[in-house]
Amino acid sequence: MSFLDVLSRISDEDIAKTLDVVTDDEILSTLSKAVLDIDDALILLSPQALPYLEDMAQLAHERTVQQFGYTIQLFTPMYISNYCDNGCVYCGYSHYSGIAREKLSLKDIELEAKAIAETGLDQVLVLTGESKSCSPPSYIKALPMKNP
Ligand code: SF4
Repeated sequence: MSFLDVLSRISDEDIAKTLDVVTDDEILSTLSKAVLDIDDALILLSPQALPYLEDMAQLAHERTVQQFGYTIQLFTPMYISNYCDNGCVYCGYSHYSGIAREKLSLKDIELEAKAIAETGLDQVLVLTGESKSCSPPSYIKALPMKNP
């Protein structure tokens, strides 16, 4: 199931209704869960959850340390395609931004990776915009990647 499928299940009306009736008990119960789903996220985004922001921050910190420990990893982002079908308002790659679009070939990606490696950085975060037609999973799968 895609993110869009999950999101499509929820109407704006459902969200407004859910946000209106959230109780302290529901917030506390959600904060005690090991795994949160999209309904839990709504509960924690409700105005009633505002007094629990510090609890959420503590919990987020705890989970981050559990997952990653106290480490800092440096990496450089490498966008290999800036085509995107979405319209996130904060993003310059939004479908509606009117920018020039580019999709790197495997050869271009190799040249970029070599240029990055020459700087001493050896971890790369490969990114694309979200476009089923221009950067489908098969495009990303074709990359010769090495896990750390
Ligand atoms: S690149 Fe990512 S953040 Fe930007 S518009 Fe597309 S989906 Fe949204």
